Amino acid sequence: MAEIMMTGPWSLTIPETMYDTLDRHLFPGDHDEHGAVMVAGVFTAPDGSVRLLARDLFLARDGVDYVPGKRGYRMLKAQFIQRHILACRDEKLVYLAIHNHGGRGTVAFSPDDYASHERGYPALLDISAGNAVGALVFAAGAVAGDIWLPGGRRVTLERAEITGRRWQVLRPAPDRAARKALPLYDRQTRIFGDAGQHVLAGMSVAIVGLGGVGSLVAEYLARLGVGTIWLIDPDRIDPTNLPRVVGARRADIWWALGGPSAPAWLRRRVLTFASRKVDIARRVIRQANKATRVKIVAANVLAPEAAAALLSCDYIFLAADEMRARLLVNAIVHQYLIPGVQIGSKVSVADNGDVTDVFSVVRPLRPGMNCLWCNQLINPGKLADEAKNDGERKRQRYVDDKDVAAPSVITLNAVGAAHACNDFLFYAMGMSGAASTDFARYDSRSRAVMFSTPRTDPDCTECGSGKGSRLGHGQSGPDLQCSLGKVPATRFLYARRHGVSSREATLLLDHTPPAITVLVEQQRRYVRASNFQLAANVNFGGSRFTEPRGRRVVRMFTFWARMIIMDRREPALRRIEKVLLAEHTGNSH
Ligand SMILES: [Zn+2]
Ligand SMILES: [Zn+2]
Repeated sequence: MAEIMMTGPWSLTIPETMYDTLDRHLFPGDHDEHGAVMVAGVFTAPDGSVRLLARDLFLARDGVDYVPGKRGYRMLKAQFIQRHILACRDEKLVYLAIHNHGGRGTVAFSPDDYASHERGYPALLDISAGNAVGALVFAAGAVAGDIWLPGGRRVTLERAEITGRRWQVLRPAPDRAARKALPLYDRQTRIFGDAGQHVLAGMSVAIVGLGGVGSLVAEYLARLGVGTIWLIDPDRIDPTNLPRVVGARRADIWWALGGPSAPAWLRRRVLTFASRKVDIARRVIRQANKATRVKIVAANVLAPEAAAALLSCDYIFLAADEMRARLLVNAIVHQYLIPGVQIGSKVSVADNGDVTDVFSVVRPLRPGMNCLWCNQLINPGKLADEAKNDGERKRQRYVDDKDVAAPSVITLNAVGAAHACNDFLFYAMGMSGAASTDFARYDSRSRAVMFSTPRTDPDCTECGSGKGSRLGHGQSGPDLQCSLGKVPATRFLYARRHGVSSREATLLLDHTPPAITVLVEQQRRYVRASNFQLAANVNFGGSRFTEPRGRRVVRMFTFWARMIIMDRREPALRRIEKVLLAEHTGNSH
């Protein structure tokens, strides 16, 4: 930590579920003082501002861990402190001691509090070996922080942000700066107030994928008055995009030479000069709102510069189809506590030409709460295909890429984009009661809406807080899977670490991006906790399993069916396959 310039301001981000737990503990209605320890990861932005990322919370039991003080009113017991400061040292996290004061809306440390920091924190800094330590004091709706850095610097916390169903900001005292929104926003400010419009103008939002859905999101966000919009997409526009990409013109594809009536060889040449989707979206944003700052990354979201851009954002719209993009964005949401949403729409057509399914999905992603991994929305089979086919896909992109040919309609995209932008708006405005974070699926034919409450697995390597997981770990956490390469470990080390044979490790390393290994881990855990036994490990690729019960199962099954699992009591493979089927039905796109 010491080598990074941290010039401030300092803030702390807390997942809403964690904050709710803390709030209940500190303010149970007894008007007394209570204690806790929070451990936090760190993210230092290129501008020197620092975000602390709440990773885990340990409540101090009254009378056991939090006891009458020798000098102050109460104190955390030495053993309680020691346990957590040592864990912080080992995992490179920031230790934060917490207590509360009475009152509402404003809070400050007392002289006794400061005296205890001065007595105790130099020693804690020594133990934590290079990581910051500090204290937080909460009142109802307010927080103050005193952070000690290695080398003797001390900083105060400017604010804490709580992210979950809605966005809330706590400060040491209310922010009373008067702000008047532009008359332009009169209709909106009648809903959100001038302060709300100011919040939007201060936000930095990323859109990953500027196709049918993403181009609409760009238009909506610009007109809402979002201050900074990052546009991330490597692709150029294509004639088949014209009916859906907002703002695209015939001139963008050199219509006479690159349009559908031109010969294929000529079209292919010409389309390498077509406008980039990011440039079209920038044009749309400029026309909608001159005040919005537009930043462009014309690269795949897996490129390091794209991931770096996402880390500086307050919200991420994921409107790209790739599983790898889901994998990366999901990791960022949990590791850096940045909320977002995944949007998509889908028209399924059977082999005989019948349209079987028409729907849009909006899946809010919230740190520690909503996870694409835990809900089987990252399809390992597709991940492997994407990694394998990179070169092939690039060659074919403009003429006969199957993704370009997938059925798609602007109106379906609009359903998903509008709901996702609504959710974002209510989230950013901190509107209570408005924002459910359930995953939603809008069936456009029946007009039915299906909501599902996302599951969370406490052992999840992405959203769980178990040892080594990503949640809130910030820059000292696992590397983001930005490159498409293999797991950076030798087969031997890999086999040891995952408890698999070296033959299995070879299979895993040769055939999968890192993500699949996570999934295999989860499956192994599931197997250990049941009566099943993994007789042999994974073997994927090969023939496609033909459908037993519905087509959505099939794709998941390419992977799962090839795991050979035995029942300890009754080694009947057929039965186990059924178990796996039931476990992984549905939602694979
Ligand atoms: Zn105090
Ligand atoms: Zn998860």
